Amino acid sequence: MTEVLLKVDNLKKYFPINAGVLGKKVGDVKAVDDVSFFVKKGETLGLVGESGCGKSTTGRMLMRLIEPTEGQVEFEGKVLTSLSSGEMRKVRKDVQMVFQDPYASLNPRHTVEKILEEPLIVHGIGNAQERKKMVREMLETVGLSSYHAKRYPHQFSGGQRQRIGIARALMTKPKLIIADEPVSALDVSIQSQVLNLLEDLQKEFGLTYLFIAHDLGVVRHISDRVGVMYLGRLVEITDAEKLYEKPLHPYTEALLAAVPIPDPTIKKERQLLTGDIPSPANPPLGCAFHTRCKSCMEICKTTRPELKEVEPGHYAACHLYT
Ligand code: SF4
Repeated sequence: MTEVLLKVDNLKKYFPINAGVLGKKVGDVKAVDDVSFFVKKGETLGLVGESGCGKSTTGRMLMRLIEPTEGQVEFEGKVLTSLSSGEMRKVRKDVQMVFQDPYASLNPRHTVEKILEEPLIVHGIGNAQERKKMVREMLETVGLSSYHAKRYPHQFSGGQRQRIGIARALMTKPKLIIADEPVSALDVSIQSQVLNLLEDLQKEFGLTYLFIAHDLGVVRHISDRVGVMYLGRLVEITDAEKLYEKPLHPYTEALLAAVPIPDPTIKKERQLLTGDIPSPANPPLGCAFHTRCKSCMEICKTTRPELKEVEPGHYAACHLYT
C-alpha cells in the first residue's frame, strides 16, 4: 500500500454554547464529531458536503488554525496535535492551504512579489536575490508572467488571483495542500482552468491534496477517493469511481442527483434533497440525516449508524447496510 501521509483519528471540534448573563455553558455545537480518515502520498482525497457540515473546520484543524477539542492528526508519522506552536510553524512549510476567496487571503497593500516572498522569509529559504528568482519562476509555473510580480492583487481577475494563492502555497515546496473550496468563488469557465492547473502541479511536484468542496461535481475528476460529510460526521468514504458509480449512502445519492449531467439524453432518477440541513447545535437523534432521508426506517430515528466497511474499501454509516 502507498505510504500514508496524513492520518486523522477521532477528530472533534465542539464550540460551547453559552447563555444567560453569567454566560453559563448550556451545550455544544458539534461542528466536527469523531471524524477519521487518511490521505495517501500523491493522492487527492475530496471532502464534500453542504455548508455547515464541518469540512472546512476539519481542514483548518489539520493545520491547527483551529484547535481540535479531541482527536489526533498525524503527518508523516508526526503527531501534529501535540506539537508546540513553534514546532507547528515548521510543519507549515510542508503543509499549506489554498483558500476559497483569494482576494480576502491576499494582502491588498502588498505586491505579488512581497506576497510570494513572505513564506520564504518566514521559513528562512534563500537570500533576497534567490527569493526574487523563485517568485518569478513560480509565477510562470502557475500560468502568470514574471512581470506580474510588481502588481497588486486588485489588478488581477478572480482566476488569476487564485493562481497567486496557489503560487503562494507552493513557494515552500510543500508535500500536502489543503485546498478549501479553491474554485467555488470562480466562474464555471475559470473553474476548470484552475482545476487543470492543480492537476498539472500535482504531477509536476508530486503533491498530495485534500480537496474540500460542497459539490460532488467539482471533485469528480480531481479526486482518487472521496469522503462525504453530513452534520460533522463522515457518512461515506471510498474510491471516487465507486462513489460515483454506486453510492451507498442516501445522502451521497441525493448530492449526486444534484450534479448536472452534461449529456441531456442521459436520464437519471432525480432524488433531490428536500428540507434544510438541521442545526449542528441541535442535531436529530439517531441518524442525523433521517429528517431528510427517503429511506428512513424506525431504527434511524433512535440509533446512530456507525461508519462501517460495507464492501472492500467502501465505508458507509447507514442502517440499510447493518
Ligand atoms: Fe437514511 Fe436511515 Fe440510512 Fe440514515 S441510517 S441514511 S435515515 S436509511
